[in-house]
Amino acid sequence: MINIFDLTPDEAAGEIKGMGLQAYKAGQVFEWLYKKRVLDFSRMTNISKSDARKLGSVFKTDIPSVERTLESTDGTIKYLFGLSDGNMIESVLMKYSYGYSLCISSQAGCRMNCSFCASGKDGLERNLTAGEMTGQIMASEISSGTHISRIVVMGTGEPFDNYDNLLRFLDIAANPKGLGIGQRRITVSTCGLVPGIIRFADYGSQVNLAISLHETDNESRSRIMPVNKKYPIEEVLKACRYYVEKTNRRISFEYALIPGVNDSPAKALELAHLLKGMLCYVNIIPVNLIKGVEYKGNPGKNAAVFYDILGKHGIHVTVRRELGGDIEAACGQLRRSHADEIWRRD
Ligand code: SAH
Repeated sequence: MINIFDLTPDEAAGEIKGMGLQAYKAGQVFEWLYKKRVLDFSRMTNISKSDARKLGSVFKTDIPSVERTLESTDGTIKYLFGLSDGNMIESVLMKYSYGYSLCISSQAGCRMNCSFCASGKDGLERNLTAGEMTGQIMASEISSGTHISRIVVMGTGEPFDNYDNLLRFLDIAANPKGLGIGQRRITVSTCGLVPGIIRFADYGSQVNLAISLHETDNESRSRIMPVNKKYPIEEVLKACRYYVEKTNRRISFEYALIPGVNDSPAKALELAHLLKGMLCYVNIIPVNLIKGVEYKGNPGKNAAVFYDILGKHGIHVTVRRELGGDIEAACGQLRRSHADEIWRRD
């Protein structure tokens, strides 16, 4: 059986047509699934019993199961989802003035092993399918009764390490016949897999791209992000310039301030020089603390200095307002393990 959420709407429509159903039936099915969140073919009232039976013999409509939820004092909700093979993943639902945003995972675990991030501490388990990415949105909407208007692919995993499924997911998410969230309301974040950035530039969509930079020279960046040994800063930035040229979209660079490591005024100056002239902005994030990694000093102490230096050099800059820190739902704190202490807190 095929999980219908693993197929793009066009692919699913092709299958449905191939089953001998009239072409317009596909549109009705998508309406039930993606607009009304009805997952049972027999409950789709404009689909005949025999058509529902046919659909049910070819497709399943699987979405992750909500295993646990945790709510932060700021209203952020962290979901622990169970997948069909028993793997567990996490997503984070955040409330902003414009509406709800969901941070989804793209892999169970991660193999990038950035020193400051919890997601890679147990390595990669497997890629998520497009349906498992789509399903995180469906399941959290159904569970919370909210409507999600923005998506950030910034949970556990490296999206460009799961490129084909990511693109399928983006089609489902942005397609008016699918979830219908506009491309400009979706952001994909990468640690800098250069071939992925180039492919993404050629894909030419309006989906936003964020790059986790976090350092300004190769020696320092390789120390905290092993991926830099394979794809050094100058290659990442070259690919970024290509992306901007191709898409005319502004790139965002994420820079987590790690006290005593990358937060000196000199680094801010280097960063300003690196990004000079690029259509971009920098998102400063005081590093979130994770278990087993200790820092000397307060992560946010140089945020204002960094902000000023970048600003003075003409770089657009924001300081990220972190949500959900009390439930380990902030950047870098997501994991794939349900054995985590946080999920046993009652
Ligand atoms: N693999 C992708 C997406 C997941 S991480 C990537 O690297 O971009 C989402 C963002 O959180 C990245 O910018 C990542 O570098 C950042 N991050 C990871 N750990 C963090 C931490 N402890 N504090 C703040 N940001 C962190």
